[in-house]
Order: sequence, then C-alpha cells, then structure tokens
Amino acid sequence: MSKIEPHNSALSLSGIQKYYDDHHVLKSVDFSVKPGEVVVLIGPSGSGKSTLLRCCNGLEIAQEGDITIFGQPLVAGGKLIEDRELNRLREDVGMVFQSFNLFPHLSVLENVCVAPLTLKKATRPKAEKLAKELLAKVGLSDKIDAMPGNLSGGQKQRVAIARALAMTPSVLLFDEPTSALDPELVGEVLQVMKMLAKDGMTMIIVTHEMNFARDVADRVVMMDNGTILEEGTPEQIFKSPTHARTQEFLQTVF
Ligand code: ADP
Ligand code: MG
Repeated sequence: MSKIEPHNSALSLSGIQKYYDDHHVLKSVDFSVKPGEVVVLIGPSGSGKSTLLRCCNGLEIAQEGDITIFGQPLVAGGKLIEDRELNRLREDVGMVFQSFNLFPHLSVLENVCVAPLTLKKATRPKAEKLAKELLAKVGLSDKIDAMPGNLSGGQKQRVAIARALAMTPSVLLFDEPTSALDPELVGEVLQVMKMLAKDGMTMIIVTHEMNFARDVADRVVMMDNGTILEEGTPEQIFKSPTHARTQEFLQTVF
C-alpha cells in the first residue's frame, strides 16, 4: 500500500506508476501541492511532465497509485473509488494546454460559459456574469463576441485560462502554456498567471520560462526519466542543484 497524505495538501498523488504498453513512463512518483502553492515542473522532453499533469486531473489514469483532493481519496490502487470521482477530478483540477483547445465555432464568451452551463448546470445569466468577470480579469472585455480564429495566440491562451477558471477549480494545471506563442505574446500570458499566483490560486505549471519560475514558483520540481529527481525552492534548484542531470538541463534552458 502506498501512503496517503491526508493533511495540508490540495492535491496529492502517491506511488503513481504509469505505463504505455511496456514503456514505464512514471516510476513510483509521489507528488503533491499545498493550497495556494505554485509548483513549476521542469525536465527534459520525454521525462513524463505532461503525463504527470494528465494524471493530476484524470485525463490519464495510472495503473497504480493513489490520488486525494484535500485529503479525500478519489483514486486508490490505480482505481477510481467511484466512477463519478473522475468528474470530480476533472472539475476540481482545471487544465490549460499548449495548444489552447478553444472551441473554434463558439464565441469567446461561449467558450467560457459552456462548461459551467453543461457540467455545472449553471443558469445562463449566472454563467455569463462569471464569464464576463473572468474575461475582464484576463484583459479581454473587448473580445467577448470575437471568434477564436480572430484572436492572437496570446489572447486565445488568456481565453483558455478564463475558461478553466470558470469551473472554479481548486487546482489549475498548465502544460507549456506559452510554448506555442510568438515571443512577443508570451509576456501577456505570464502576466495573467502571475496575477493568479498572487490571488492565491494553486497551480502546477510545466514551463521552460525560467525567469517566470524564479519569480513565481514556491517550489521547482525536476523530473527526469519518469521520476522526480529533485525539488526545492527556485533558488536551490537554479543556483545549487544536487544532480548533474539538473545542471545539464538548466544549461539548455537558461
Ligand atoms: P514530457 O511532457 O516531459 O515531454 P511526456 O509525459 O509527454 O513527457 O512523455 C513521457 C514519455 O511517455 C515519452 O517517452 C513519451 O513518448 C511517452 N508517451 C506520452 N504519451 C504517450 C501516449 N499517449 N502513448 C504512448 N507513449 C506516450
Ligand atoms: Mg510535455
């Protein structure tokens, strides 16, 4: 039996074993995030960062391991405690992808409203009110009627963030949210993420933006080859990493 951490964590994964066929992608990973904490996940391509994020919100279910949200078990021994726990995971743990994944045929406002309307059975006035508030927060009040195709990448990603927030998640996951953006559009998205961090949002962020990590992360977690190689404050990891592998990796991104 792997251990469950009931105390003081917003989201906790333990003993996670994930295979794609016989490819062992996550090797007994223990990972948790505290309420209000901002964790930045770094590591070379293929080390398992995206897979770990996807396990955090049930887009992937690992073959083994436990997941709890605020101490409540949702997955134990690789099995959902109850089928409906998958909805709980997906609603409580939001995700922002590199590729935005907006609905191209829906306006900006509808993109942000659709999940609360369908999954949370929100009333339309309530859903629209929240959507407008969130779009104002990400600086897009003037774009509510625009179609995604007419937005810049940075604007699309800010809509995607508003859409994720509309489900009022406990934890927000970001998988390389600025990697698909033209360099001049990266800043506006990082700015929104900084604001969320300041607001106390619990976030797990995969990014190669090390300056952002240094400014915003409470903790940096270095993954390598399906394991967590080391973790610490940005200062510890960036200035005096324990592992040569971390040092090598950092040289490629700084
Ligand atoms: P990272 O995000 O750190 O680049 P990933 O989590 O995407 O790493 O991938 C970890 C490993 O799992 C890689 O070897 C990758 O090829 C493999 N992998 C990821 N997704 C799949 C999948 N859907 N099917 C098979 N193999 C996968
Ligand atoms: Mg990835």
